[in-house]
Amino acid sequence: MADSTGFLKYERAMPPRRPVDVRILDWKDVYLSRQSGEDAVYPVAALRQQAARCMDCGIPFCHHGCPLGNLIPEWNDLARRDDWREAIERLHATNNFPEFTGKLCPAPCEGSCVLNLQDSPVTIKQIEWEIVDQAFERGFVEPQAPAERTGRKVAVVGSGPAGLAAAQQLTRAGHDVTVYERADRVGGLLRYGIPEFKMEKSVLDRRLDQMRAEGTRFVTGVEVGGSGEGDLSAEQLRGEHDAVVLAGGATVGRDLPVPGRELAGIHLAMEFLPFGNRQALGELDDPPISAKGLDVVIIGGGDTGADCLGTSHRQGARSVTQLEIMPAPPDKRAEGNPWPTYPMIMRISSAHEEGGERLYSVNTERFLGDDDGHVRALLIHEVRRVEGRFEKVEGTERELPAQLVLLAMGFTGAQREGLVETLGLELDARGNVARDGEFMATVPGVFVAGDAGRGQSLIVWAIAEGRAAAGAVDAYLTGSSMLPRPVTPTAVALR
Ligand SMILES: Cc1cc2nc3c(=O)[nH]c(=O)nc-3n(C[C@H](O)[C@H](O)[C@H](O)COP(=O)(O)OP(=O)(O)OC[C@H]3O[C@@H](n4cnc5c(N)ncnc54)[C@H](O)[C@@H]3O)c2cc1C
Ligand code: SF4
Repeated sequence: MADSTGFLKYERAMPPRRPVDVRILDWKDVYLSRQSGEDAVYPVAALRQQAARCMDCGIPFCHHGCPLGNLIPEWNDLARRDDWREAIERLHATNNFPEFTGKLCPAPCEGSCVLNLQDSPVTIKQIEWEIVDQAFERGFVEPQAPAERTGRKVAVVGSGPAGLAAAQQLTRAGHDVTVYERADRVGGLLRYGIPEFKMEKSVLDRRLDQMRAEGTRFVTGVEVGGSGEGDLSAEQLRGEHDAVVLAGGATVGRDLPVPGRELAGIHLAMEFLPFGNRQALGELDDPPISAKGLDVVIIGGGDTGADCLGTSHRQGARSVTQLEIMPAPPDKRAEGNPWPTYPMIMRISSAHEEGGERLYSVNTERFLGDDDGHVRALLIHEVRRVEGRFEKVEGTERELPAQLVLLAMGFTGAQREGLVETLGLELDARGNVARDGEFMATVPGVFVAGDAGRGQSLIVWAIAEGRAAAGAVDAYLTGSSMLPRPVTPTAVALR
């Protein structure tokens, strides 16, 4: 039984982040972490008080926010009771990688928590992180190799959270699984998109160790459907495997085709962030694209933009400005955004705490260059919404100096050239790889999971899709499957 009065005794509290002036000098997690060898991590007793705030509601609305169907009140109570072994069992029952969501999820579950009616939800995400971190520390996360092997071969293309979840589920079901990744390391956006200060790569690596020990094979530096030396052709892929899971992500960045776009110094966010990640790991002293000493403008006010902001500060930018065409979100839920839907409110991420300026309701008219063909400024103006469209506010044009511009305006879908084209896969109306209710693409035996099929989304959805697609693949290979399918391909977040 949960402590039904815990929320009356304890206020919501989060662990403190490291001081800005300290953390800005390194790339480590903004929170004190055991991975960094820090002693003064958040006291477990404080975390257990937070877990005690969960009421174990008769109708746990937190469940409605989470596509994984996480058993939140159950593991909240187990954390409260200091039962970390049982807590990780319940956590892993629905989520292969709670450490990724525990660090990185925007936590729609907290938005749906009944205590969020009072703006003080249970700190579900922090409790999730603590359970899995304790479990790794205490040696409770062990390889779960299958007792029997089916002899069926599955290729997973792409090693982001969707591909990894599918691979782990299918390996544990006894299939021979090979994950192909074109980058030099495994992890997808967890490796080269999301910066070290949000989740240290050691967190990813310890999970990959478990997967390798279970029998999942990883092949890196190979573009499936590519034409380079060492790449794997679409024919080889189909010929050598009984089923394929395409989990290649939505990697095509949205561009801004305004005059001056051709100037040097203007880059998509995902051209910039991988270098920052390599710099964080000590692989690069002098990244080819760096914010060092520059005035940086980031176009796009979302999470990717915030990652560019934090990276720019750590590289030593002179100034950083983040532009957003939408108006600033309200501090409280607006009408039309009621509990238990996700609150669309102003958020201050760790990167925003570290400095920089955020400008809302502004549009970029053109990029202005210097005599050497390098960007020197943006010509921007204010906008207002008129009948759903953005209209320029006349007389508000001004120049914003910038020697580095980062475009962080989202992604338009999966890469068409290469595998999608050579396999002859059809796309849906939104530019994602089309699939049926069983996650199968328009070519039999090819399944699609994660951002490649859903479009730009979240890690929690990628894991849920990887798990569900694995269930569909297992059924395709063996006739039936006991693997869970937490979501359908068309499931959407609570609205
Ligand atoms: C900068 C950034 C920050 C983000 N931060 C967060 C966050 O904090 N929280 C959150 O929930 N979500 C975040 N997201 C979104 C989240 O990362 C994605 O939704 C998620 O990673 C999608 O997982 P995926 O497995 O579908 O694809 P990805 O993670 O994109 O992985 C796809 C992988 O497939 C590989 N690949 C593609 N084609 C081929 C091929 N033909 N052969 C071999 N390999 C191939 C790619 O190299 C890539 O490694 C962020 C996204 C970005 C861009
Ligand atoms: S809604 Fe909140 S208080 Fe209720 S069970 Fe879920 S986490 Fe606990």
